[in-house]
Amino acid sequence: MQSTRFVGKNVLITGASSGIGEAIAIRFAQEGANVAINYHSGADRAEAVRAKCAEANPKGKMITVKADVADEQDVINMYAATLKEFGTLDVLINNSGIQKPAASDKVEMADYDKVIGVNLRGAFICAREAIKHFLSRGAKGSIVFNSSVHEIIPKPKYVPYSISKGGMENMTKSLALEYADKGIRVNACGPGAIVTPINMAWINDPKAKSEVESHIPMGRAGTSEEIAGVFAFLASDEASYITGQTLFACGGLTLYPEFRVAWSSGE
Ligand code: NAP
Repeated sequence: MQSTRFVGKNVLITGASSGIGEAIAIRFAQEGANVAINYHSGADRAEAVRAKCAEANPKGKMITVKADVADEQDVINMYAATLKEFGTLDVLINNSGIQKPAASDKVEMADYDKVIGVNLRGAFICAREAIKHFLSRGAKGSIVFNSSVHEIIPKPKYVPYSISKGGMENMTKSLALEYADKGIRVNACGPGAIVTPINMAWINDPKAKSEVESHIPMGRAGTSEEIAGVFAFLASDEASYITGQTLFACGGLTLYPEFRVAWSSGE
């Protein structure tokens, strides 16, 4: 049965031109939302996502909006463009994210700043503008961050990425606490290994994919659609009493998979 949880709701999704963000945009459209699809470099891909959202919800309003989330003025303009079309906003999905792997002794500070800029500074600016809007309306609002299992699991050779997600955990909790009494909920989804373009290094290489999947207790990578469902739940009224939480959707990756066998107790 088609859900109608978001009929008449206005949703902004950052980084919705690809991967998980694309699946989230389509999922919200399927559930009745009007969707603003943010993109950075992928104008054509964003337009293709817009068309899929329009097909999923022909009665809804679907727009694309370009912005570099790390750029404060770009984000302010993105909100102005979105609110001009929608009038109000109910949900922000803070999804944009990048990674630049390198051994930590070789990390270029420009790359470090770029990753922290998009993943952490960008997520904060977008959240700040959403909160400003929710407060100005005196209305309820929901923000969901796209974090990662690396919010809590260290990731050598991806330290800027890993600490951006660690910071996101505290941002989720701090904002949730600060605005809980204003009807604003702030949560995060922490995906594990998901088949998207960010993981080009292994998704098209069967040997590398099988190596990745050998570390996952459920034995497989996740799909963007599986993650989109978690975002829809956290943003919806079904999660009305949940705030400041990260819901890990990771096939068991956060369960210390090395302990599948009782190697530490000698049994
Ligand atoms: P993806 O397919 O590479 O998508 C990344 C998205 O971020 C694209 O839409 C891209 O837009 C956007 N983006 C990049 N730089 C931006 C900027 N400066 N301003 C605005 N948007 C920007 O990757 P994905 O796997 O779907 O990742 C989405 C989120 O999920 C990220 O936060 C990532 O950390 C998180 N995540 C992914 C996995 C996984 O296994 N895939 C696991 C855990 C967490 P353009 O293409 O238009 O430039």
